[in-house]
Amino acid sequence: MENLAETACRICGLDDGDELFDRHGLPLYVICACCFNESGIGDDTLMQVRELRGLWLGHGARWHEPARKPADWDLLAQIANIPPRWR
Ligand SMILES: [Zn+2]
Repeated sequence: MENLAETACRICGLDDGDELFDRHGLPLYVICACCFNESGIGDDTLMQVRELRGLWLGHGARWHEPARKPADWDLLAQIANIPPRWR
């Protein structure tokens, strides 16, 4: 059976290794430390994901938990980490 687990945020691409969607593709409702999205809430379709990403970027790509923002954080590198089907 295909493993549908996702660890990278669909909105911002942050991947700290925690599962956001389990192996069955079901959301685990984890709040992203970077973009504040909750997996499974409003990120079900590509249109929704792009809209949320646009809002996040448009507001300066701020971190929900600034203390977890790496000193050498690279926005474009993180964006490149977004799973291809959610770009
Ligand atoms: Zn995120």
